Amino acid sequence: MVEAMLHHQTLIGLLREIQSTPTAPFHEALVAEVIRKRLADLPNVSLTEDDFGNIIAHYKKGRSKPQLAFGAHMDHPGWVRTKKEGEVFLGWVPEERLKTHPVEWFGDFGMWKLNPFVIHDGLIHSRVCDDLIGCAAIVAMLMDLSKRGVDANCYGIFTRAEEVGFIGAVKLAKKWPLPKSVRFVSLETSAARGGAVMGDGPVIRAGDRMSLFDDAVTAELVDAGAEGKIPVQRCLLDGGSCEATAMNLYGIPAAGMSVILGNYHNCPPERGIAEEFVSLADVKNMIKLITVTVERMAGPNGKVSSKDAMRKRIEKRVRDHEKYDRAARGK
Ligand SMILES: [Zn+2]
Repeated sequence: MVEAMLHHQTLIGLLREIQSTPTAPFHEALVAEVIRKRLADLPNVSLTEDDFGNIIAHYKKGRSKPQLAFGAHMDHPGWVRTKKEGEVFLGWVPEERLKTHPVEWFGDFGMWKLNPFVIHDGLIHSRVCDDLIGCAAIVAMLMDLSKRGVDANCYGIFTRAEEVGFIGAVKLAKKWPLPKSVRFVSLETSAARGGAVMGDGPVIRAGDRMSLFDDAVTAELVDAGAEGKIPVQRCLLDGGSCEATAMNLYGIPAAGMSVILGNYHNCPPERGIAEEFVSLADVKNMIKLITVTVERMAGPNGKVSSKDAMRKRIEKRVRDHEKYDRAARGK
């Protein structure tokens, strides 16, 4: 297996730049600009945008067919100002916490006044991990594939307005501008549930609060993790819902992965508002896993789907044990 991964300092610089960029639902323009700038001149990467402003990046080198699109959302729960309604908070945060913390305004949208980016003891603390970590992971994967000139074919999708009901993802799913063969993998940050532990690796999600995910797409991630010897956890993270649910509802087979998130939506367990945090090692392993998955699916092993491979293994076991059945029944 190829050693996938950007240089440590390159990755930290990327995370710092993306996570320090202000964002809120419908106000993703600054983040979109940073992502476009980072991807603009990468060899083998092309960029388009749909009518709603979701960004679609396509990495293509060699002859393999595209199979996966990795998606993350560019917004985060925050304040917006409209002429009609004044200051409104968009996204889920308990009502009683809304007036407990100062807000920093960036024109007509605002975020909690918190630290944009600090690394301490292997943890990234930031006013926004959800989901700029997912966005940075996709950019990092594309940078790495491009730098190494890997033969592969995949998409990276950066959506708008997830926090108010997957609006960007729904608009994208309804039109689905990608080839029919392409399936979706949502990259998220999520509260620890279902036995998941921060630092034990990214989570391949069995599902979210609203639905279970596509088994065949999930199997590709699980197999890539095993082959690449990447620490992963497999859990039902039902604390929140993600864009995989939206995609599956509109007929795009979708799976999901998450990095475990502390202070989900800036809410520490008891009270107040604070930075979210994630484990840097988990982030690195998520990037590694998606990169390895893409490389693997473009290679000879990727010709057979993981579910077909699973069926073959089971059939071999059935064949190998037939002699015992014959002996037991005297045949
Ligand atoms: Zn999210």
